[in-house]
Amino acid sequence: MNQNARMNLKPGREKSLMRRHPWVFSGAVHQVVGEPADGDVIPVFSAENRFIAQIAYSHNSQIVGRVWSYQQDQIVDQDFIRSLLEKSIALREGLGIGQVSDSLRLVHAESDGIPGLVVDQYAKVIVAQILSNGVEVWREAIAEILLDLTGVEAIYERSDAEVRILEGLEHKVGLLAGSEFVDPLEISEYGIKYLVPITSGHKTGFYLDQRANRQLLQKYAAGKDVLDCFSYSGGFSLNAAAGGANSVTAVDNSAPALELLQQNSVLNSYDEKILEIIQADVFKQLRKFRDQGRSFDLIILDPPKFAPTRSHANQAARGYKDINLLAFKLLRPGGTLFTFSCSGGIDEALFQKIVAGAALDASVDARILHRMSQSADHPVGLNFPEGQYLKGLVCRIG
Ligand code: SAH
Repeated sequence: MNQNARMNLKPGREKSLMRRHPWVFSGAVHQVVGEPADGDVIPVFSAENRFIAQIAYSHNSQIVGRVWSYQQDQIVDQDFIRSLLEKSIALREGLGIGQVSDSLRLVHAESDGIPGLVVDQYAKVIVAQILSNGVEVWREAIAEILLDLTGVEAIYERSDAEVRILEGLEHKVGLLAGSEFVDPLEISEYGIKYLVPITSGHKTGFYLDQRANRQLLQKYAAGKDVLDCFSYSGGFSLNAAAGGANSVTAVDNSAPALELLQQNSVLNSYDEKILEIIQADVFKQLRKFRDQGRSFDLIILDPPKFAPTRSHANQAARGYKDINLLAFKLLRPGGTLFTFSCSGGIDEALFQKIVAGAALDASVDARILHRMSQSADHPVGLNFPEGQYLKGLVCRIG
């Protein structure tokens, strides 16, 4: 802890910290004493000078502090970081993911008590995203500890997410520890192989959060004509093929993603004839299908984040409504829609309302068969609802 520095909050503004929400917003701060550097661990006090928490300081960010500990005597050092990483990894060991996959999320940031750190393991390589000043100062220690705890061959950094800019941090990518590795590397999940582009893929290379939902889709695919919108490298497309789909049409606007999907299909020896790959804007392609009179039995909509925060919710809602309405219209009677939102700014209730509005406007009668979320290796702290970002519905139309 930086003994000379401290933060005092405005009267009453300690309430959310008292409920263990791990962020201090800049608007709650009365004063910061002692000119702490970014990433310094400093104590936070209420207006009445009562100790509340130890936070990592970040002067540029709207989130000016992220909690390391609610105990005043906790020493935040390398041993403490190690104990947090150990706990996070141990939690996953009880989830049974190792029996079905060689890849999983080891650290889900605030929800694992390590603000700003995301760690994904892909077979023998770990990809880390260091997204806040609090963990930025522990980069080397984190890499060393992860190497030691997991025995992987390499730790690669993909700190090129936009949120780093809000923290006043530059993007950083590169090998942090261990040895060079083959990229893209091959992983296996529920018996399906995927190539993961570690250095150039989206986020950390693959969407581990959709593991359970991919598996669910497989059960719905037999004999169906499937449309996978926003396919990326084919997580859902490959599961449709594995589940015995009659045909799979994948749409994405990224050429490298579709190239990977093609390679993944070959890697798993799926029948090339059933796979149609279309590089296009989904919003336009759905209209094109409508104008061509094409229809499908099973449609997946897994778009990128339309609303990173609540302030984008209205515009995002229009985007979700548009694609869901078009998808409902392209479904054959008795067809099934897997529809997702990974926008933090749109909660489950609002998402359901948008999908309901789309069904109404498409004049289809639809019911929810399943509610989907992120897999258990992406847990959500009850004190940190923001950790829940992925929501999805499986809807069957009449
Ligand atoms: N379903 C995928 C993940 C989708 S991520 C999986 O399970 O692995 C979102 C994808 O949408 C990215 O591949 C991105 O290239 C693509 N994308 C973003 N905007 C798009 C648009 N307007 N039209 C088509 N694809 C788009």
